[in-house]
Amino acid sequence: MELESLTIDGTRAAVASGEITANELANLHYERIDARDGEINSFLALSRERALGQAAKIDAMAAKGDALPALGGVPVGIKDVLVMQGAPATAGSLILKGYRPPYDATAVGRLEAAGAVLLGKLNCDEFAMGSSNENSAYGPVLNPRALDRVPGGSSGGSAAAVAANLAVATLGTDTGGSIRQPAAFCGVVGVLPTYGRVSRYGLIAFASSLDRVGPFTKNVKDAATVLQVLAGHDVMDATSSDRPVDDYVGGLEKPVEGLRIGVPAEYFGEGLDLEIRGAIEGVLAGLKTVGCVIKPVNLPHTKYAIPTYYVIATAEASSNLSRFDGVRFGLRDAEAKTLSEMFRRTRDAGFGAEVKRRILLGTYALSAGYYDAYYKKAQQVRTLLTRDFLTAFAEVDVLVAPVTPTPAFKLGEKTDDPVKMYLEDIYSVAASLAGVCGISVPCGETKDGLPIGVQVIGRHFDEATMLRVAQAVETGQLR
Ligand code: GLN
Repeated sequence: MELESLTIDGTRAAVASGEITANELANLHYERIDARDGEINSFLALSRERALGQAAKIDAMAAKGDALPALGGVPVGIKDVLVMQGAPATAGSLILKGYRPPYDATAVGRLEAAGAVLLGKLNCDEFAMGSSNENSAYGPVLNPRALDRVPGGSSGGSAAAVAANLAVATLGTDTGGSIRQPAAFCGVVGVLPTYGRVSRYGLIAFASSLDRVGPFTKNVKDAATVLQVLAGHDVMDATSSDRPVDDYVGGLEKPVEGLRIGVPAEYFGEGLDLEIRGAIEGVLAGLKTVGCVIKPVNLPHTKYAIPTYYVIATAEASSNLSRFDGVRFGLRDAEAKTLSEMFRRTRDAGFGAEVKRRILLGTYALSAGYYDAYYKKAQQVRTLLTRDFLTAFAEVDVLVAPVTPTPAFKLGEKTDDPVKMYLEDIYSVAASLAGVCGISVPCGETKDGLPIGVQVIGRHFDEATMLRVAQAVETGQLR
């Protein structure tokens, strides 16, 4: 069986018809992981027993002729910031070494309940802080499309595993771009659902007002299928929405003719790679030929998005990460003579440089005397950034923009300069701050063969329209 072309529909159909068993399919993926992942480094832990147990259940259903659920037999991988009962959960950090959570994240449980086979846990930047996957304590992930390049981050392992056909779909998280950017760098589809659409229960928190869980897949229809399974209210997450979930998969059939596509001028300025600009212009021309109306719009506060994000995200991180104290989870220093020395030594040994930088930045922004100047100001600007989107969405149905200013960069290229790395997020963080939904869809390659992604940004809770436009972009590609 060709794993390269295996989609969710294809997997389900093959397992249902008996062409292949879920067990064989899981083992084929494990063989491929053994063969290829030594180089790519996308998986941190494999959950063979659980995967094969689930595969047996699916095979029993198929043998009886029962209809398979939406993800029946589909091999998936989980970013290592989402917990799976009994499996190691490191969040890419040494401080969680040895921690085995006693429960499943809601997103993980929903995938399995829909028939998915959970292959294992995927590498990522430490606590999801980064844009290149070079901040993992367990080594960088390489981009399967160009092994001297980063896969993007922080969900680098999740994007790379799909791109290398080590899983049919994966889960990632996006706080300021961590699904969309690695999807663009690796040439796969990645979805940022609206804040509140997918439960965060069981997600190791980075910045709680920004963190979101979403899928990576090989095409838009698969993304709609996984999102359909993930979306919906969860009593375990107070920020999860009880709005009804639209029919994402069925909605893909509707024509895009007449939809108004906004093109934000601020996303096409200085610093945008010319080949990426060209590819996005090609997408817009294609959407016009299928009857979409292309309209220029403005998101005037965009230039404040990066500083605003790096104040709010670090402030929340400094608070969230205070729980890793050597007492409750994972690592504990054995040499210390006093409790406070134990806290200090555990945190010093357990956290990497970027995480420490952010805890310091965030603590500073929240400290008495600086709170108003930094944290409060950032919250006010966040409101203005959100209004920019609401104003634009009064005129248009979706926005189309680049995901990243450059294609995948070389390993080590930006590690010396944190600000350079933060600027990677220039087209992704505003949508994160505003809470709207977004998707990255492959839309071409550079002349060096590096993937290019286009971002479609939708209104709050209007994933259906966003996915529909994304699908039009994708079919435009195949024409
Ligand atoms: N690159 C951004 C950061 O480093 C976004 C990370 C994310 O979305 N988790 O914070």
